[in-house]
Amino acid sequence: MAWEQVIGQERVQLMLQRAIVRDRVPQSLLLTGEDGAGTLAIAIAFARVVNCEQPVVSGDRIDACGTCHACKQNHSLQHPNVRFVISYPSGKAETDDELPKEVVEELKEAIQTVAADPYVPFQLTNATQIRIGQIRDLKRSLALSSAQNGRRVVIIHHADEMKVESANAFLKTLEEPHENVTLILTTAHPERLLQTIVSRCQEVVVPPLDDDQIISALVSGGWCTHDEAVLLAPF
Ligand SMILES: [Zn+2]
Repeated sequence: MAWEQVIGQERVQLMLQRAIVRDRVPQSLLLTGEDGAGTLAIAIAFARVVNCEQPVVSGDRIDACGTCHACKQNHSLQHPNVRFVISYPSGKAETDDELPKEVVEELKEAIQTVAADPYVPFQLTNATQIRIGQIRDLKRSLALSSAQNGRRVVIIHHADEMKVESANAFLKTLEEPHENVTLILTTAHPERLLQTIVSRCQEVVVPPLDDDQIISALVSGGWCTHDEAVLLAPF
């Protein structure tokens, strides 16, 4: 089940689930909040649910079945409809194909890690920025028809790491209509995004978790005892 990885955020979960159930999924979503609030966790759950072949629906609630072919692929985030854009380390590489072999491996591992725990920092070593080549590559891939049924979801993690050149290129992609595509931007710094990007997205504020939610997540995840969690939660 996709949403079980998300800690709290009941209001955000319900809003997104309702949009999926009512077939009003936005073309672009901006999830603003700290990483610890679960912006990436929410984006990943969303991607899993909209691609599930037999979603479990109950009223306004919807979850992935966890057992269909798409869910099995998405368990490890290997579904062809789900794509990530994250900052690259400095170097010449402008697209995934141009990354040095070791960085490709690191990226694969990072995706595996967040598939299992979407609260782990999702970044490459010495990452600096989202390159314009990545955005052009994204644009090219969106122009092709999807290989598999479902909805293509592109998660642009820490979208504020696009510099002006990339952001302008991305704005053009945002302005183009794409069928069955949702672009999800996550950021803790919406003020660093181009205002024209923000205004084209449906913004969803993901508030910080409160201490009780952090404590129960730490304990239920087996990370520590309740007493230790009480000491850790404020940090
Ligand atoms: Zn499924």
